Amino acid sequence: MKLLELADLDAELSRLDHRRRTLPESQEYEQAEARDAELRAELATLEAQQSDLARDQAKAERDVEQVRSRIERDRARLDAGLVSSPKELENLQSEIGSLEHRQSDLEEVVLDVMERLEEVNRRRGSLAAEQATLTGQLREIGARRDAALAGISEESGKDTDSRADIAAGIPADLLGLYDRLRAQHTVGAAALNRGRCEGCHLSLNTVDLGRIRAAPPDEVLRCEECRRILVRTGELSS
Ligand SMILES: [Zn+2]
Repeated sequence: MKLLELADLDAELSRLDHRRRTLPESQEYEQAEARDAELRAELATLEAQQSDLARDQAKAERDVEQVRSRIERDRARLDAGLVSSPKELENLQSEIGSLEHRQSDLEEVVLDVMERLEEVNRRRGSLAAEQATLTGQLREIGARRDAALAGISEESGKDTDSRADIAAGIPADLLGLYDRLRAQHTVGAAALNRGRCEGCHLSLNTVDLGRIRAAPPDEVLRCEECRRILVRTGELSS
């Protein structure tokens, strides 16, 4: 019976459609894409941190340089013997002492900034490497996904063609009923096999079976339970 062939093809087409929508490769691709977006965001943050730290480092180095040259100037004055008053001498020596202290604090700042910069660079490098690997994976997963989708499209195209051929041989009103039922119940027609509707899997009672046996072969039968079109098979009454 052509309606059963049609129902088989429709079931196959739904399976293909389901496969298309739940393709593991698509999910894999989406996950990889999400990770890629995370990496991009994190890399942008690190890049901003890096430029801030580089600016901090340059500033701290300039500060160190300023203090160092002031110390040198003060020392030169001392060495040249230009300062003779004991009071002035004491002031100058004390200034050199506090400048040296300041210099060592600033050098700490430089070291600290450099360490943080190193950490940011290390992290950037590792994320960039991960991103490079991910780019390759995205290409590979994308190719697998596209191949799977193309395969599904090809199968589904063939099934659609076969369906059109079969549908052309079914009376329009029966086909209309089938399509309406299919829209409501997913499956529009089911086989009646060994007294059981293969759509809802319920067995028909003897009265209904008797009526079906007596019905002319061209009468459109419906399952009393699920209202699907029942297609009589050879094993109707066994
Ligand atoms: Zn049924």
